[in-house]
Amino acid sequence: MRRKIVCKFGGSSVENATQIEKVKNIIQDSKNRKYVVVSAPGRDEKHRQKITDHLVNIATEGAHLHKLVEVKESKIAILDKFKGLIKDLHVKSDGLLESLEKDLETKLEGDKRTAFLASRGEHYNAKIIAAYLEKSGIATQLCLPESIGFQVSGDILGAKVDLVSHANLQTLKESESVCVMPGFYGVTQEGDIAVLSRGGSDLTGGELAYAVGASLYENWSDIDGVYEVDPRIVPNSDVIPRLTFKEIRLLSSKGFNVFHFDAMNNCRRGNIPINIRNTNRPSSDGTLILNERVPEEDVVGIAKLDNMAYIYIEKEGLGETIGFTETLLNIFNQYGINTYHYPTDKDDIAVLLKKEDLAGNINNLRSAIEDKLSPDSLEVVYDISILSMVGIGMKYNSSVIADAVWALKENHIDIEMLDHGPAKISFHIGVSQQHANKALELLYEILVLKR
Ligand code: ASP
Repeated sequence: MRRKIVCKFGGSSVENATQIEKVKNIIQDSKNRKYVVVSAPGRDEKHRQKITDHLVNIATEGAHLHKLVEVKESKIAILDKFKGLIKDLHVKSDGLLESLEKDLETKLEGDKRTAFLASRGEHYNAKIIAAYLEKSGIATQLCLPESIGFQVSGDILGAKVDLVSHANLQTLKESESVCVMPGFYGVTQEGDIAVLSRGGSDLTGGELAYAVGASLYENWSDIDGVYEVDPRIVPNSDVIPRLTFKEIRLLSSKGFNVFHFDAMNNCRRGNIPINIRNTNRPSSDGTLILNERVPEEDVVGIAKLDNMAYIYIEKEGLGETIGFTETLLNIFNQYGINTYHYPTDKDDIAVLLKKEDLAGNINNLRSAIEDKLSPDSLEVVYDISILSMVGIGMKYNSSVIADAVWALKENHIDIEMLDHGPAKISFHIGVSQQHANKALELLYEILVLKR
């Protein structure tokens, strides 16, 4: 059976004609690349904002771009962008610009208007790219969500994909042509355009991959893959060739922003590997995310989460008080604050959270904790950074924790927190923010480079 690949190209991969030509070459390079999901054009040298942001700016009367860009300017930027694409790619315009101009003056109101406008970047880009591929000799089928039944529901500015969409998308399995589908938006049962959350073209790609039973989901952007550590801090760090879904989740939740998380769910369920690739360097293999991999190395990557705070509570016997932790976490819940790690002992507990979540809340939080739990003391430690070491190999070798502790000790970096993940494939070390970069460099050297 022929392998079927779904490729999603992000905003930077389709920002101008040069990039779109690269997309075409990538598609021509493998007959298996049968499904193509495209984003709206991203920012480029001339246009400092993404097309989607200009569109939302129109919908919000300039509020989206903080009144720094007038609605009129956004309209010009959008028309200019698509006019440029049509001209540079030498595709027939077929009334496309007139139709876009009309769409920008939509009479829809409220959220329906915002969703409709926000979707236009992907909508028109897909039309242009499909025309360009066809013109380049690739048999192409334009698959608009409204015509193929990519049905969504819920909040029309952050919609969820309905199950029926999978059945509808399955009909594309029969297509002999390359299917080009705009990402990010769908239609409701009532026929309204609704958008997924921002970055939602990744989701469209994941849903399509699942529905057509793809053998691979390629996610093309302008990064080479998932790096072992942040390359801005450690420039010699490499791209991780293979990662499990579980590992990427652990790395992503700790500051690795690779792509839309929810896009992974269906791929994981359908056992479809995701390949993160760079449109500007198609010769490099990128990162492959799979359900399983051979655990050859202990630590594959280290993520760093900056600007965290630590609430430290002391109360005699709290370890023996049933429901203490539940009451405490409920208080954070009431303030909509996400908490991360909770190291606990007999008489004390600490809760880790984002420092920014405490702004405007700390006094109320303190009073609530004092009222409900009467702690003996409550201390807030600011400016903590959490380094998370991740790798499935650690399941069989937890001695790397000792190596990490030793390296930090040797370099006089104090450990503020240490937490071993329950799956034993990660551990987390909190250090003071001022030592975070140094600690990352050291741990990278000891745990990743010298393995
Ligand atoms: N264009 C949309 C955004 O900028 C969706 C996407 O690119 O994935 O969020």
